[in-house]
Amino acid sequence: MKYWAIVPAAGSGKRMGSDAALPKQYLRLNDRTLLEHSLLRLDGLDILSGIVVVLAENDAQWQDLALDLAKPVITAPGGAERAQSVFNGVMALNELAAEDDWVIVHDAVRPCVRISDIQKLVQEVSATDTGGLLAMPVNDTLKKVSPDSMVETTLNRDHLWRAATPQMFRLGLLRQALENAIAGNISVTDESQAMELAGFNARLIQCSPDNIKITYPEDLAIAATVLSIQQENDRQ
Ligand code: C5P
Repeated sequence: MKYWAIVPAAGSGKRMGSDAALPKQYLRLNDRTLLEHSLLRLDGLDILSGIVVVLAENDAQWQDLALDLAKPVITAPGGAERAQSVFNGVMALNELAAEDDWVIVHDAVRPCVRISDIQKLVQEVSATDTGGLLAMPVNDTLKKVSPDSMVETTLNRDHLWRAATPQMFRLGLLRQALENAIAGNISVTDESQAMELAGFNARLIQCSPDNIKITYPEDLAIAATVLSIQQENDRQ
């Protein structure tokens, strides 16, 4: 059984407010783009057979990256929604991979994920039938608000987690789950949701809270701090 990675990198980064010509996966963090950081983290995983990078049709940056990855990389065309992009990545693996192979989907915009957390995911999820994902317990008090920002109620945060990536599922089951969601016009924001709708429950694996998703411009400064702390820890 083999392990493959899919990195959806075909978003436009609207919430970032960045120039449409520079989607957020190509924003720079220290010496390289977010996408390069994310790919390098996955590339550190010995068991991977290859990586599929999903790119927007109008992508103008990918060919200019000077990436030197150990793993073979193929590209696939992006879709209008993240789920469609991941589905296209899965389809690109059809010829190469077996139905039972594991697919590890990781957002291009989570450059700080720890390799040790990815290894923990792989180890623990490989023992399951269907799959699992990295996640963090919710530690803030949660408010439900009205459209005019008035608090309606406080939610019970017990048993609530924030889903992160990577998320790891069997190729065949993930393809079917994403296909069902897309055909049913159901908007799913991660692979786990597509799997849940198909009747499969994923295993949650707790990861470090520094596995942040770059969404707003301020997140870049936080990510830079996270990287320097991680580098300092690695040196010790
Ligand atoms: O937009 P969001 O923050 O959910 O994006 C998460 C990841 O999915 C990003 O890496 C983005 O490039 C990717 N994405 C994609 N195709 C889309 C939308 C998002 O590959 N249509």
